[in-house]
Amino acid sequence: MKILSVVVPCYNEEEAIPFFYAEMEKTMGVFEERFPDVSFELLFIDDGSTDRTLEVIKELRGKDARVHYVSFSRNFGKEAGIYAGLSHAGGDYVVLMDADLQDPPSLLPDMYAAVTEEGYDSAATRRVTRKGEPPIRSLFARCFYKLINRMSKTEIVDGARDYRIMTRRMVDSIVEMSEYNRFTKGIYGWVGFRTKWIAYENVERVAGETKWSFWKLLIYSIEGITAFSTAPLRLASFVGFFFTILAFIMIVFIVVRKLVSGDPTPGWPSMVCIIVFIGGIQLFCIGILGEYLSKTYLETKKRPIYIAKEEE
Ligand code: UDP
Ligand code: MG
Repeated sequence: MKILSVVVPCYNEEEAIPFFYAEMEKTMGVFEERFPDVSFELLFIDDGSTDRTLEVIKELRGKDARVHYVSFSRNFGKEAGIYAGLSHAGGDYVVLMDADLQDPPSLLPDMYAAVTEEGYDSAATRRVTRKGEPPIRSLFARCFYKLINRMSKTEIVDGARDYRIMTRRMVDSIVEMSEYNRFTKGIYGWVGFRTKWIAYENVERVAGETKWSFWKLLIYSIEGITAFSTAPLRLASFVGFFFTILAFIMIVFIVVRKLVSGDPTPGWPSMVCIIVFIGGIQLFCIGILGEYLSKTYLETKKRPIYIAKEEE
């Protein structure tokens, strides 16, 4: 008998969970036929929801013993939910799935086959279209993936979803990475292992609304870059170096001009421009330092990634 744990992070998903469970029941039916030796564990992570999410999960738990849950003391974010899920999951294989059915459970049998029959350690999904998403968000997302892959040695796949099945050994190595600033998309790449990519068309969420505002995504992308690349720090030194050389050339130029032609032209406007420009660059570089320093600060505190209030 093999156990497949399905980890579902939920934040205010009271409307979506019943749909999710209904879909999941169908998929579990498919499994019974295709892989009769698999039993399921449905692990819901209630990420400090303020609506009836926990009650809905408890109702499910009442009628289906395969349902388990962990409930956080407050909203810790999806990354914390994923971490809690992976560390609580007891299965031989673990799959991460959103509650809003944007990760179609119908793909699960093929994903399971990839890790059990085709010798992969992980089967992950990526969406090939971004249908139904605001164009500006897609544009920023594309730029982000281009940028981060330039800057980081760890490969971060464009359009990759968190929807992914993993073997026990891969899950264990991810749980071992107990860093506080978590960017799971990078962590998967970092731990390595052989991954099969399955592409599918974007699906819109079944009920409720997205928890990611444009701002939240932007901050998350900076998180991703600082967690998996130190290139911005190097950029700061390169820019500093470049301007030092430039300043040196300018000094020589001015001194020579003064000696040769005694040129007394006062250059206030250009002077002010240069001062403001260099000042701006300095602040920018200090800002980059601050980004990394704040991350280091939070890591050294060794705060728990989440706090569970109750679990079953
Ligand atoms: N989620 C979570 N904690 C949060 C935000 C989101 O656990 O702070 C869950 C959410 O309930 C859903 C999944 O993460 O199951 C994906 O969120 P959402 O659908 O809002 O993101 P999108 O699909 O729009 O990127
Ligand atoms: Mg979604």
